[in-house]
Amino acid sequence: MRSLSFITKATLSGLALLSSSLYASPYSSATLDAAEALKQQALNSSDAYQIVEDLTTEIGPRLTGSDNDLRAVDWALARMTTLGFNNVYKEPVEVPHWVRRVNQAEVISPYPQPLVITALGNSISTPKAGLTAAIVRFADFDALKAAPEGSLTGKLAFIDHKMERYRDGRGYGPVVKARSQGASVAASKGAVGLLLRSVGTDSARFAHTGTMRYADGITKIPAAALSAPDADQLTRMLARHSDIQIKLDIQTEIHPPATSYNVIGEISGSSKADEIVLIGAHLDSWDEGTGALDDGAGVGIVLGAAKQIIDANLTPERTIRVVLFAAEEVGLIGAKAYRDAHKSELDKHYIAAEADFGAGPIYALHSRVSETALPQMDQLAALLAPLGVERGNNNSWGGPDMSVLPPLGVPVAGLALDGTDYFDYHHTPDDTLDKIPPKAIQQSMTVYTLFSWLMANSNTELRPIPLPKAGESRRAPPKPKADK
Ligand SMILES: [Zn+2]
Repeated sequence: MRSLSFITKATLSGLALLSSSLYASPYSSATLDAAEALKQQALNSSDAYQIVEDLTTEIGPRLTGSDNDLRAVDWALARMTTLGFNNVYKEPVEVPHWVRRVNQAEVISPYPQPLVITALGNSISTPKAGLTAAIVRFADFDALKAAPEGSLTGKLAFIDHKMERYRDGRGYGPVVKARSQGASVAASKGAVGLLLRSVGTDSARFAHTGTMRYADGITKIPAAALSAPDADQLTRMLARHSDIQIKLDIQTEIHPPATSYNVIGEISGSSKADEIVLIGAHLDSWDEGTGALDDGAGVGIVLGAAKQIIDANLTPERTIRVVLFAAEEVGLIGAKAYRDAHKSELDKHYIAAEADFGAGPIYALHSRVSETALPQMDQLAALLAPLGVERGNNNSWGGPDMSVLPPLGVPVAGLALDGTDYFDYHHTPDDTLDKIPPKAIQQSMTVYTLFSWLMANSNTELRPIPLPKAGESRRAPPKPKADK
């Protein structure tokens, strides 16, 4: 991790002065002085780390619809109240309730041995006694799609697509479609089950779960991810023998929909209290780890950021609203519920940003604001630069949950978290507290603190935003350099 450089009050004012010759500063000197004090305070605070430690220790896994999901809601309400938010409440969200019971697999012949798998979220069960079938390997999802009709009858499809590692996580998009849609495509060719090389960048013997869905009108088949070394093992077996028989035993339960909640806390604004600076993270997690990186870290970052402002006894002009979304992992369900419940005030949402990509540090400020507001974003980036944040693009979606807002005209920011290692742990039993570097999450919290404070007190308009085009990728376009 890069070292954090500290800047003085003189530097902040100097930056404001420098840019004011080209562009009227959107911030008063009192706002900038407070920002400087907040920065020093946040860079000496372990609040974000402490919040994730508490959440992952006291609640642990928070699978949507589970008892722990509801315990997390109560935990969040109590925590927000203790932190001193003015307004703390929850809003109901109807969520799916899927439960993992058993996920086992083994090679039956000709090389009998166990395999490490995990059922994909929403997968149905195999028969109680398991199912045994030959596997057919596909290099990627497109290869499976190209398989002739009926060519997989009675077989297990095995998609073996390796994910690539990038700081911004752009290796995820090309492989994750196979996880969400692979089972139905395989079933349409006659397959009785799907095995997917884990969507991850590690070589650990853990499999990565994640949600999948069944297409209407197509037979549902069980679906599981294999750990990376087990996918390699199967590939080596297939090079030696064409008939590799696998036994798959997956037992899951699909219950009627349950009720979960978006948990919301506000720092009430003063002169523009009806306008909202929205920061968020998601409270739910997968079931096998403790949801530390995904997304306990985000919870720590946004709650910690709000705490800095509350503890400094500052009142922002706009209301700062923190939303901990329900059911992100199973399809942005809490985010859609928030969008619908707050439709009448979306035009009062000044800007929105979500932390949902691990602990950081944050290395770039992306945005989606009007052309005329770009200088303001440049100036915000200049104020964040001493923390190691560079100015990014203007194509942001604001993070997974916030991505439902730009299509309705809400400006967003993307405070890009360094995700180089994120997909080593994402959706695995290994997503635990020890993966969170305290210094990284402290920097991320500091950036969110400054972002929230400055956005809540800026005096420029960010609308109208460039609306996303149909089919536009939700990830920033690849950058030619600087990525590992
Ligand atoms: Zn997440």
